[in-house]
Amino acid sequence: MTEIKKEEEKSLNFIEEIVEEDLRAGRYKNILTRFPPEPNGYLHIGHAKSICLNFGLALKYGGKTNLRFDDTNPVTEDTEYVESIKEDIRWLGFEWAQELYASDYFDKLYQFAVALIKKGLAYVDDSSSEEIAAGKGTPTEPGRDSPYRSRSVDENLELFEAMRAGKYKDGEKVLRAKVDMASPNMQLRDPIMYRIKKAHHHRTGDAWCIYPMYDFAHGQSDSIENITHSICTLEFVSHRPLYDWFIEKLELFPSRQYEFARLNLNYTVMSKRKLLQLVNEKLVTGWDDPRMPTLSGLRRRGYTPESIRLFADKIGVQKRDNMIDVSLLEYCIREHLNRIAARRMVVFDPLKVIITNYTGEERVKSEDNPEDPGTTHRELPFSPELYIEREDFMEIPPKKFFRLSPGKMVRLKSAYIIQCDEVVKDADGRVTALKCSYIPGSKTGGENANMKVQATIHWVSIAHAITAELRLYDRLFKAEDPSREEGDFKDNINPDSLQVIGAAYAEPSLKKATFNERFQFMRKGYFCLDKDTSEDKMVFNRTVTLKDTWAKVQKA
Ligand code: ATP
Ligand code: MG
Repeated sequence: MTEIKKEEEKSLNFIEEIVEEDLRAGRYKNILTRFPPEPNGYLHIGHAKSICLNFGLALKYGGKTNLRFDDTNPVTEDTEYVESIKEDIRWLGFEWAQELYASDYFDKLYQFAVALIKKGLAYVDDSSSEEIAAGKGTPTEPGRDSPYRSRSVDENLELFEAMRAGKYKDGEKVLRAKVDMASPNMQLRDPIMYRIKKAHHHRTGDAWCIYPMYDFAHGQSDSIENITHSICTLEFVSHRPLYDWFIEKLELFPSRQYEFARLNLNYTVMSKRKLLQLVNEKLVTGWDDPRMPTLSGLRRRGYTPESIRLFADKIGVQKRDNMIDVSLLEYCIREHLNRIAARRMVVFDPLKVIITNYTGEERVKSEDNPEDPGTTHRELPFSPELYIEREDFMEIPPKKFFRLSPGKMVRLKSAYIIQCDEVVKDADGRVTALKCSYIPGSKTGGENANMKVQATIHWVSIAHAITAELRLYDRLFKAEDPSREEGDFKDNINPDSLQVIGAAYAEPSLKKATFNERFQFMRKGYFCLDKDTSEDKMVFNRTVTLKDTWAKVQKA
């Protein structure tokens, strides 16, 4: 795996400290971590943090990582998601030791539940969900024992088997762990282990009509696989005593749970439920819309795996929730693209330039990447009729405008210096073309190459230019934390998050662009080819601007 930058000796994060201590104490010979996505949506940049952490630990300490689909909720899951998750993890550059499914453990989990019943540590409860919730008490008041809590082991075994056999309707009965209704930890007040759900499962079909709850399935799956370090996000801190309780009572492999802060990124939402709403309500074009914080969206937008791994590395692993500025993610992709992107000239909003003292045609040479000492070069056609960017000309320039204006000179990138002699306008007074003259010998290597001008601008030869559609993206939400705003989070969508330039004029070399290539459209931003490209139309996505312009816009 190629890393962007070898960071100098960094201090260990708190999970690395734990792992090193465990290895030193000989608690484990090898570590085994897991990444446990629920296949109910596409992976997002928050998951990438967890992936980089779990796989990164294993790589660093010579261990392994399992990919375990946490597919215990039949209603929301789908094989489409399973495939996309695998694709995204591989794209990030990681390979799992084993591909596993919590649903493969349904039989074992059922046996574990029976074992707890036999120990008098689980019971079937006929109460409704409202009654159970009411009986739980509050953090300051103890809960009340359910009237079914003292059922005999035999009765519980019989009822649980009947639940499994489909004798009851959804919600009619549940299986609960018998822990402690007065515990100050609400999670320990007889949590539900199994519920009845007559639903088809994407892998087990109709074999089951009872499904284990997260708390009962997760830790047990960890133990079955001999996971050493089970890393999850902070919401699960209060679940840890229950995680340990099940493992202790069932006498299973002592997997241990550790919690870190989930990644929150501003100007976006990260919950799969919310992302699904955006997709279903067609507020974006799909899970891979380039404005989405999903890995498939970021990939389509032009983000590289290296940039995302660098980002994960830079944000580190915290014990406290925080909000990361999306400009850090943008910094990471610029950092990488600056080094690998091929420079190309593309005019977004054309203004015609006619070079009156130039005839014929020639090819000029331009370097593909000045950041690369071994850069390759390409040839560009130069001719008397060019397009430049309309914003690079001003008829009445303000003081610090150094680009083209009547009587002034600029350099055309990798070509000649030109001077603006005459402004051509239409009947409405709109500038339609500039008549210019070029300075012979002002190209690199020529006798006038060293003439000083204050600006260099990009251009394309009109006769040779190709056209392409450009999609310029901005943040999907106007609000820094859309989920925290009052009302519906979707009310905070940025109406200007996509700007389309129907036909920009590009140098002809871009005709050969491939999907894996990354480009810097000089002075404009980083771009990549979009999958909507067809035989008759090229489409490019702007991955990121060259500089952080957002801060400026916001101040204005
Ligand atoms: P969401 O709330 O987005 O649906 P989730 O936690 O339900 O996320 P899972 O598929 O259950 O999604 O998550 C798989 C793993 O990724 C879990 O270990 C989870 O802790 C981790 N994860 C999910 N979101 C983030 C995040 N924002 N930052 C860090 N880790 C995350
Ligand atoms: Mg989850």
